[in-house]
Amino acid sequence: MRYLMLVLVFALSACSRTPFWKDNPSSYQSFSTYDNEIQLAPPVNREQHMHVFEIVVWNVVDTQNKVVIGDAKLKLMLDQLNKVYAAASIQFEITETNELHDYYTYESLVENDFYNYYNYLTNYNSPNVIDLYLVDHERNLCYNDGRVRGCAKGRGFTTTGGWLSSIVIPKEDVTNMKIPIHEFGHFFNLEHTHYNYTHQHSGHDCAKTGDKICDTPPDPGAGAYGAMVNYTDCEMYGAYDENGIEFKPMINNYMSYYAPCYMKEYAFTPEQIKVMKDFALDHKRAAFVKTSL
Ligand SMILES: [Zn+2]
Repeated sequence: MRYLMLVLVFALSACSRTPFWKDNPSSYQSFSTYDNEIQLAPPVNREQHMHVFEIVVWNVVDTQNKVVIGDAKLKLMLDQLNKVYAAASIQFEITETNELHDYYTYESLVENDFYNYYNYLTNYNSPNVIDLYLVDHERNLCYNDGRVRGCAKGRGFTTTGGWLSSIVIPKEDVTNMKIPIHEFGHFFNLEHTHYNYTHQHSGHDCAKTGDKICDTPPDPGAGAYGAMVNYTDCEMYGAYDENGIEFKPMINNYMSYYAPCYMKEYAFTPEQIKVMKDFALDHKRAAFVKTSL
């Protein structure tokens, strides 16, 4: 596969960009859920096309304590994305990298139901490109209240609707083998494998319930069931649903929350790939396609 050109434009300043949303308040409001009823007719020979999506990278930096993800790490991320997404006829190209000095940490974006994210950070979004914001974590994410101690760290989130669509990941996860690919999975309409899994497991139509994907087995979720997994053979053992059927989730699925398996690479299922492939030309995403090769 040929590598797409990584173009780095450091000269562009955040302040010089037009806050598109201010001229288009109705577009600004039209985010959130998908409606699947309108589909663009796919090109007749789309199997032979690679659809290229443009990424604009934003390093959100604290000018007092500057951490910037440079082109070497971005290229690693881009190569991983392009390797995995080729199966869905999707490729990515980074066309700009900018520094954003309007500083927010991951935690400050997430708090209060993503208030800072929707009210400030998305002002920088460019229409019809994937804005990828790279952020720092707060310094102390660990706690010890005398009885319980632990650490809590978010790994990224994606806004999937309309032109507000953008992806936020921590800088430290840019070269992670799963996290960017997982977030771009959301961008192309995939849910977590554990999403509403109880509905899928109780015999309802697998195409309409849970993650709406029939070849991902019901997944009770890593949060409660991660301890039931043998990460060497990548299988869950000894966890049963209310009907006595053993859970056998796909541990190594990109859209699960499980830790990596030692012997098995992460993967998407054929149906997940089909959903992404179809969605790439859906009315919510068709305008994002820069070129079709
Ligand atoms: Zn996710």
